[in-house]
Amino acid sequence: MLVAYGPEGQPVVAEGLHLAQLKDWSQRDLLYCPNCRGIVHVRGGPEKRTQIHFAHQKGECSWSTESETIRHLRGKIVLAEWLQKQFPQASVSLEKRLPEPNRIADIFVMYADGRQRAIEFQCAPLDIDEWHLRHAAYIKADIRDTWIIGSNRLEKQEAFIDAIIASTSEVMFIDPLLTPPPAWIRWAITRETMREWQVVKGWTPSLEGWVGRSRSKYGATLSGLLQDVSLRGDGRLIHPNRSELEAQISLLREMRTAQFIDEASLHAYLKPIVGGEALNVVLFPMLHAYMLDPNLFTRYNYGRGSGDYFVSDRDIRRLQQARIWLERLAQRGFSANWLEKLAQEIPLVGPYTAFANYVEMLAFLSRGATNEQG
Ligand SMILES: [Zn+2]
Repeated sequence: MLVAYGPEGQPVVAEGLHLAQLKDWSQRDLLYCPNCRGIVHVRGGPEKRTQIHFAHQKGECSWSTESETIRHLRGKIVLAEWLQKQFPQASVSLEKRLPEPNRIADIFVMYADGRQRAIEFQCAPLDIDEWHLRHAAYIKADIRDTWIIGSNRLEKQEAFIDAIIASTSEVMFIDPLLTPPPAWIRWAITRETMREWQVVKGWTPSLEGWVGRSRSKYGATLSGLLQDVSLRGDGRLIHPNRSELEAQISLLREMRTAQFIDEASLHAYLKPIVGGEALNVVLFPMLHAYMLDPNLFTRYNYGRGSGDYFVSDRDIRRLQQARIWLERLAQRGFSANWLEKLAQEIPLVGPYTAFANYVEMLAFLSRGATNEQG
């Protein structure tokens, strides 16, 4: 455990005081278990390379937390710090004994507005019925519970972890033994979402597939650092990469059903991928030319062979202007190859497909323009 009572009955946090002071009280049998009031002693410390904590002499506590691992102890400290940093106005307590439900929460958060949250850090296996009991007891006591799992269970398929995902739609794993602690967020996605992800580009963090018990859902695991994750008031875990991906997906859905090309949507979709400068210098001039005359290339290409099309002098002049513009772009680093890549980043959905083809034709024209020049 990380909290004991000192000589005056005051709560003492393992890392809150000098180790020498704790050892002195420990030797004089002045530290007590907050639960059974039995004597506890200080354990661990820098020279033992383990987390400082308190332990009963022979596991004689009815609340027994004695089988606690260093991982579990360390996780509680890491998570309490993570929560206090996010909610400076809230009171964050370690190993809080709650009258209702009658158990000790690993970490307890009392927000300024009176809402309460218990955080359970689970490193050991847990029976699914036991999880349901504890979860229901928290709900009954009007305490929101958040379950965070030790990364030692990351590869295990366990019913209680599936139950957490089913109840809150996601679960986080952390490895508190590393600094800074890495974190993994796992959540269920549908087959349809998985298909959409294949279309979205520009998202690099690793996303490992994982198939749960349910056949209609797939699991996605995002890996990052705990310090980049935040816990929202409603209990949702927020990671910037996932937020960006979700924003891309919702844009993609809008774009799929759009009647016309929307400049703002295209800007929002492509900016994280190609950057703002390239959009202003390359993409938007192309888009404006396209919207004025989407069929220029079709007329030009087919007009040279098929009788149904006709190339006017004006078309020929516009193509000439386009070549000059493309040459200048190539000198600025936006080569034919670059344009080809850009065309591939434009999603092939709704009215955007035709524009992607248009950019591809410009890339082709750019190759010709720069070849003639070189
Ligand atoms: Zn005890």
